Amino acid sequence: MPCKVILSKEISSTFREELKATIKSRGIKPKLVGFLANEDPAAVKYAESTSKTCEETGVTFELRKCDKEQLEDQIVEANEDDSIHGIMIYYPVFGDRQDQYLQNVVSASKDVEGLCHKYIYNMYHNKRYLDEKQTKKCIIPCTPLAIVKVLEYVGVYNSVLPYGDRLHGRVITIINRSEIVGRPLAALLANDGGKVYSVDINNIQEFHRGTGLKLKKHEVRDTNLKIEEILPFSDVVVTGVPTPSYKVPTDLLRDGVVAINFSAFKNFNDNIKEKASIYVPAVGKVTIAMLERNLLRLYDYHNYQS
Ligand code: NAD
Repeated sequence: MPCKVILSKEISSTFREELKATIKSRGIKPKLVGFLANEDPAAVKYAESTSKTCEETGVTFELRKCDKEQLEDQIVEANEDDSIHGIMIYYPVFGDRQDQYLQNVVSASKDVEGLCHKYIYNMYHNKRYLDEKQTKKCIIPCTPLAIVKVLEYVGVYNSVLPYGDRLHGRVITIINRSEIVGRPLAALLANDGGKVYSVDINNIQEFHRGTGLKLKKHEVRDTNLKIEEILPFSDVVVTGVPTPSYKVPTDLLRDGVVAINFSAFKNFNDNIKEKASIYVPAVGKVTIAMLERNLLRLYDYHNYQS
């Protein structure tokens, strides 16, 4: 079958090797603390793989399990502890707006997940640097960033085009509009020049920078489109629906589509390989590599300031 299946291990390996070499050659010991305040098996699995990857690359990882009512105090303590360079939380904790509050309790200088208001705001506003001199790149939320790296790896980003416009001409559908992954991803890809259809359970929105990329940052419009109308024209379909029964209808997809699944469940049917040119069944390992990359960046920014 001509479909190329690309595993996240392959995509993440260059990043992991780079991280390992940098940490070793600089003789540094960046430390990441992960807070687990739920019993979610997916979160436990994610924590286990984070721990394994950190060990391989030379990052010190400490998993702190706590009661969700104690989590805020524990985060504050970690914010103030100079031996900790990065903090992450395994969500959901409360599963409501309180989780958004917790994202902002983590100090921006330790926010490896890139979920605090400052980083999210910069991302939506297509502001790419933290400083005027453009020496410090912004921290980008790690799962959306991982999907960008997947799209670069498989050649959806056109490197002939200037940086910032490399998705010009691409039509991308994202089935998920969560605040952690789907919506920031739609904004990032549209800021990079793509025409993005963002699908959630209620409707479909279009994120774009206009014809000829005349806008500096993306804008969003509601549509009355149905998924059957957009899938046949999508060069790329990225899906993250958190239910085992959800399947993207293969017959509606374009021949040669690039299909990427980031859900913990398989959102594509097995016959995806009969239609797709490239299929990426999971992105978890790339996400962890991006967590570590953000950690190293924050480590350097912190040393700059002190
Ligand atoms: P969420 O529940 O916050 O969001 C789910 C989104 O899917 C919502 O926008 C919802 O409207 C949409 N959706 C649900 N059913 C749909 C349907 N039938 N049609 C269209 N849209 C539908 O979940 P989340 O935090 O975004 O996580 C989603 C999945 O991604 C989970 O399986 C999670 O484990 C996984 N995830 C993976 C990584 C990774 O790095 N691999 C990172 C984060 C999340």
